[in-house]
Amino acid sequence: AKNCGKNNAKLYSSSLTMQIMSHVQLEVGLRKALQNDELYLLYQPQIDVSSAQIVGVEALVRWRHPERGIISPTEFIPLAEETGLIVPIGEWVLRTACQQAMAWQQMGQRPVRVAVNLSAKQFKDENLTQIVLSTLHETGLPAELLELELTEGTLMDDARATMVTLEQLRGIGVYLSIDDFGTGYSSMNYLKRFDVRALKIDRSFISGLPQDSENAAITRAIIAMAHGLKMAVVAEGVETGAQLVLLEQFGCDMAQGYYLGHPSPPESIHLMLGQQFAL
Ligand code: C2E
Ligand code: CA
Ligand code: CA
Ligand code: CA
Repeated sequence: AKNCGKNNAKLYSSSLTMQIMSHVQLEVGLRKALQNDELYLLYQPQIDVSSAQIVGVEALVRWRHPERGIISPTEFIPLAEETGLIVPIGEWVLRTACQQAMAWQQMGQRPVRVAVNLSAKQFKDENLTQIVLSTLHETGLPAELLELELTEGTLMDDARATMVTLEQLRGIGVYLSIDDFGTGYSSMNYLKRFDVRALKIDRSFISGLPQDSENAAITRAIIAMAHGLKMAVVAEGVETGAQLVLLEQFGCDMAQGYYLGHPSPPESIHLMLGQQFAL
């Protein structure tokens, strides 16, 4: 038994070494990813529930690693946050997404909003407002067509600083939304003061619908509250027609999820923008 424990410890420490190694390698790789053009964006459509039109797309970053293949943002965004690389990466995402939104328009598509995820570190960066302003200026994208998605955690972190930054961003005229709503901690009082345009209901509430009556109650309550505060609601992670029907009954404004479209390359979005959804 003693021997066995020793072996386990050895096994554990070697796999820990492996983890640290790959962590360091990943970090070194991530530093070069930007300059080597290894990052790219996919776009997931957001549909207006009543008109069945695409009203926006969310930009979702991917990393094409030369040896490891495609790496998910859930793996490298936390690393990018830890190392501060999220700031240059975030700037690249913002610029690329705004350029792409303009490119679709220049190819004759009607304008749609492009949503970009902002991490807490980016939101706290004192240059954020300036970066957003100059990106809009350089790309020519109208401010109201840029959506910035923030999480509850980001907003609640430092209430005073948050208010200042939100005021500046609102002054620019960008569309602000709260991502993963319902999973973090947000005070109803702050929600009122933050003055964001939309709430995105986290997919954990949507996934059990229509059967899960508790999640249905929560979803309904979030929609009612948001509408009371004059905010729009986006349901995330809509995977079935039955979910969409229920969300429409609840008066949900927009929906996003595999049922309506997977995260897709710009060419596919270009085609989708030309078509009407048959819901
Ligand atoms: P998120 O912002 O909540 O994005 C939605 C995630 O749900 C995406 O995962 C999307 O592919 C996935 N998804 C969409 N529809 C469905 C569905 O119907 N069912 C299921 N099961 N999943 C669905 P993805 O692309 O892997 O991104 C994961 C997270 O990484 C994002 O979560 C976001 O927090 C972060 N992320 C992605 N791109 C960026 C970025 O450019 N900057 C920052 N800071 N974070 C990013
Ligand atoms: Ca998001
Ligand atoms: Ca989300
Ligand atoms: Ca999420």
